[in-house]
Amino acid sequence: MPAQLLEGGPLATQLRAEIARDVRVLKDQGRNVCLATVLVGDKHESVLYVKSQKKVAAELGIDFRLEQLPGATTQPGLMQAIDALNRDATVHGIVLQLPLPARLDARLAQRAIEPKKDAEGIHPSNLGLILFGVTQRAPCTAIAAYQLIKSLGADLYGKEAVVVGHSQIVGKPIGQLLLHDFCTVTTCHIATRDLAAHTRRADLLVVAVGKAGRITKDMVKPGAIVIDIGVNRVPLTDDKGQPVLDEKGNPKSKLVGDVDFEGVREVASVLTPVPGGVGPLTVTMLMRNVVESAKQA
Ligand code: NAP
Repeated sequence: MPAQLLEGGPLATQLRAEIARDVRVLKDQGRNVCLATVLVGDKHESVLYVKSQKKVAAELGIDFRLEQLPGATTQPGLMQAIDALNRDATVHGIVLQLPLPARLDARLAQRAIEPKKDAEGIHPSNLGLILFGVTQRAPCTAIAAYQLIKSLGADLYGKEAVVVGHSQIVGKPIGQLLLHDFCTVTTCHIATRDLAAHTRRADLLVVAVGKAGRITKDMVKPGAIVIDIGVNRVPLTDDKGQPVLDEKGNPKSKLVGDVDFEGVREVASVLTPVPGGVGPLTVTMLMRNVVESAKQA
């Protein structure tokens, strides 16, 4: 039987209703909730992503402020803009939109964001709090994937969880979150010698590497829960493997995860689609972080 598809939409809708209710309560008390996004330059993908933040914020009653800085902004200029937002009591959450122009130090700028206003949950203080089970401002993608797993209601105690990918904001925090549920967590990365030997043991397999098709059917234990976080743009091909072109003759593309969806669907018990799995929850968790900050302000 093919795997149950675990979509993020229904949980996102439920969580967004809760967030909107929290925003209304704050507004009834005369308090605003505001997210400010710092965008350096006007890179097309970044502008699109910022627009989607603005749209979701508006749906939830959250004010949205765009701090758009010229592409030629210097590091001190960027730090000043962040500092001004840190000191602005009407702003509760700050996002620094990445990527930045190569000459700017993104880590330095992210760490300058006041931890209480760290909407993405990626400041070292907030990442560190995860070790203590505090997830009020957890990294959005990691907590989104975790919430989706928890929504299954499955008993995680003692389960073998394998996380593929050890990035600071996705793979590592997910491993820590699953430890709190007493999973036995294995984290795999680029130096893992026999990835399949690990993934085949997984009752719960979480994949966040950014490589299309990295996890194939033979690498998955029958009945496993598979959470695919990867987002990769690949060429769209027809059933003969030929590229599909748009009306202008340009090759079309599509989004896929890190998991070979059709193959793994045959063996897993639960599988998240890409797009439509973890993605819809990530921006929801961003907004939740902003509201939590506003509540504490
Ligand atoms: P990242 O910082 O590039 O980290 C990727 C991780 O995968 C690294 O730990 C890397 O190990 C590991 N890796 C790379 N190739 C591997 C391989 N062949 N075998 C095993 N491990 C391998 O990326 P990220 O920010 O964690 O994001 C991961 C994926 O999630 C990306 O596709 C990204 O687009 C997606 N994502 C999705 C959402 C969402 O909302 N759905 C949000 C954020 C990110 P090394 O560091 O050792 O090279």
